[in-house]
Amino acid sequence: MEYNRCGKSGLLLPQISLGLWHNFGSVDNFENGENIVKEAFDKGITHFDLANNYGPIPGSAETNFGKILKNNFQGNLRDEMVIATKAGYKMWEGPYGEWGSRKYLISSLNQSLKRMNLEYVDIFYSHRFDPNTPLEETMMALDYAVRSGKALYAGISNYPAEQTKKATEILKQLGTPCLIHQEKYSMFVRNCEEGLLNVLDEKGVGCIAFSPLAQGLLTDKYLKGVPKNSRASNPNGHLQLEEISEEKVTKIVALNGIAKNRNQSLAQMALAWLLKDNRITSVLIGASSVGQLNNNIDSLQNLDFTADELNAIENILK
Ligand code: NDP
Repeated sequence: MEYNRCGKSGLLLPQISLGLWHNFGSVDNFENGENIVKEAFDKGITHFDLANNYGPIPGSAETNFGKILKNNFQGNLRDEMVIATKAGYKMWEGPYGEWGSRKYLISSLNQSLKRMNLEYVDIFYSHRFDPNTPLEETMMALDYAVRSGKALYAGISNYPAEQTKKATEILKQLGTPCLIHQEKYSMFVRNCEEGLLNVLDEKGVGCIAFSPLAQGLLTDKYLKGVPKNSRASNPNGHLQLEEISEEKVTKIVALNGIAKNRNQSLAQMALAWLLKDNRITSVLIGASSVGQLNNNIDSLQNLDFTADELNAIENILK
């Protein structure tokens, strides 16, 4: 594993990070999740990404991760890990259970720490921009999280470019720089190329790309229909069947051909394609098995693209 500097901070993050959005909830097989986390760490994936609401049931991914830590990562190993959580989406009933108020963010962070049985997280994110809360209030809550020692760094996720710029400026004034922005980015979802990546680069903020495989679409999984053991067929999965259109599958088949010529799986090529941009600190993958995890880690063996390959990929994606 190689480690990239996160923006202009002192923190290094692995080129591949592991997210616990799917496969770690109370509905999932605990041992499978535990094996994935152990294998990831053994392979140098030091960064684990959670959020208050990951499950289902919401909160159960954090509870399970806490158990995994207790079973396998006692003592100083905590110092070798970067653990992130977030608050922003609906977590509990009433007016204080979502969005960006100080009330919600700090209560949620306290709950996350309890569920994971941690004294602090390394990164605490505002999970989404809240148009109805002053940005200053949300950023002051992140600043407080860091100053109180409940988090070591502050991050934002899903913020549009303009609000990202403002948020980083407010955080800078407060004395807690914005470490990282977490954004959906893959061959199929490229909105951040239109402005956000430049803002992050200018401000010295790292970028971690979530759903880099478009939830599994950018793999060889859906080449011939929707298999039973896939996110698209899982009632708790967030990949909608409508997303697997004929047009998409045609693109996936063509991309798979290029990947084969590179001696890579499509998943490996999709990850390498993101990592070729040095503004991307890390790609934040999910995995439902240890085999998938290892397949994805092997993408690091070939991160280079020829101009012809890049053009061929653009032609397919356009
Ligand atoms: P990916 O795009 O990497 O999709 C992961 C899924 O793809 C796996 O669970 C598996 O699904 C399938 N897959 C992975 N590798 C392979 C492979 N080699 N071959 C075949 N299939 C494969 O990422 P996610 O959508 O899971 O998101 C990753 C993380 O990003 C989340 O866990 C979370 O931490 C973060 N995230 C953040 C958000 C935010 O708002 N900030 C929103 C969403 C995610 P299966 O086998 O079940 O089909």
